Amino acid sequence: MKTEVIIIDPNNIENEKDKLSYAAAIIKNGGLVAFPTETVYGLGANAMDREAVKNIFKAKGRPSDNPLIVHISSKYSIDNLVTGVPSWAQKLVDNFWPGPLTLIFKKTPSVPDEITAGLETLAIRMPAHPVALSLIDESGLPIVAPSANKSGKPSPTTAAHVFEDLAGKIDLIIDGGPTRVGIESTVLDITSYPPVVLRPGGITLEQLRDVLGEVRQYIEDYAEDGKNPGYAKGKDKNNCAGNCGEIPRSPGLKYKHYSPAAKIITVEGELEKVINKINELVVRYEEKQVRVGVLATNQTKDLYKASTVISMGDRNHPDTIASNLFNCFREFDNFNMQVVLAESIDKTGIGLAVMNRLIKASGYNIIRV
Ligand code: AMP
Ligand code: MG
Repeated sequence: MKTEVIIIDPNNIENEKDKLSYAAAIIKNGGLVAFPTETVYGLGANAMDREAVKNIFKAKGRPSDNPLIVHISSKYSIDNLVTGVPSWAQKLVDNFWPGPLTLIFKKTPSVPDEITAGLETLAIRMPAHPVALSLIDESGLPIVAPSANKSGKPSPTTAAHVFEDLAGKIDLIIDGGPTRVGIESTVLDITSYPPVVLRPGGITLEQLRDVLGEVRQYIEDYAEDGKNPGYAKGKDKNNCAGNCGEIPRSPGLKYKHYSPAAKIITVEGELEKVINKINELVVRYEEKQVRVGVLATNQTKDLYKASTVISMGDRNHPDTIASNLFNCFREFDNFNMQVVLAESIDKTGIGLAVMNRLIKASGYNIIRV
């Protein structure tokens, strides 16, 4: 299959109607179209077409037990898909849609099982991106759209990343420039109260608590072997008190999301100690002729002795780090590094989602200093 690439300017969407209806026609005919959202690029297909949904799993090499998020362009278009919106959760819809917040609802029987991997629940979000919203509108369909990467690679934040991973496997890539947020949406389970964040993302825990008051956070085990994050077995951490073990897990959590060729080691602690530890390790690895790189920040990048140092962004603006992180991962892959030593950042605001992705990429390989 030849993968076509077209450019659509998100700032001039009114003049891009022809291209949008071309892309929407591919979706309506059961094809696969990658498109930009504010988080990362998504790989879209008609959610109501079982074959098209199966083809998404095939193109990505995604395990079939990892359910997909349905993308919509108007809050009324969920009526046929879910059994209802709890009254307290309506505030979330009103405050954060369109935006990087995925909500888990109880689904109706009309939702194909291929989307939900057999679960009784369905993940839905309304993306805040003119290209994504216009494409969904133009197709008149709910669109399933997992991140448009090959399973196991970092989520794509540019059309070039999508092309790298999926050229020859999908019909069309819409290039709408780099994505703004850079990491995936927050996944919030609203099937019970208080709701539980299953995956930290573009909408922060603090933002959710401002609107709702109580919001719990699902705690993944930092498994020593890096294989099985598992889920909170009654651990009483960060509001996840008592009955955490009963919280339904999000199937995607069990997958190691990004396993780079290089071994990534995250160093956590007071910044000065982190820098010293990383420099000490750089010397040790270089003595052993191991190609070692450092994932730093703007404030620290000149303090390292390694020959390859890449900055994730500005420590004082963690949103810049979120938007660069996945591109940094891909750059290290291109450099053929064997070991990457990564600084940690504060787990507040979007920093929580950044650290979640970093720790997953390091296979739970963390040094605390
Ligand atoms: P992606 O689209 O690649 O960003 O991944 C979607 C994420 O949402 C995965 O971690 C899924 O496990 C999660 N997800 C999708 N549907 C559900 C659901 N019904 N319940 C819990 N988690 C879900
Ligand atoms: Mg993904």
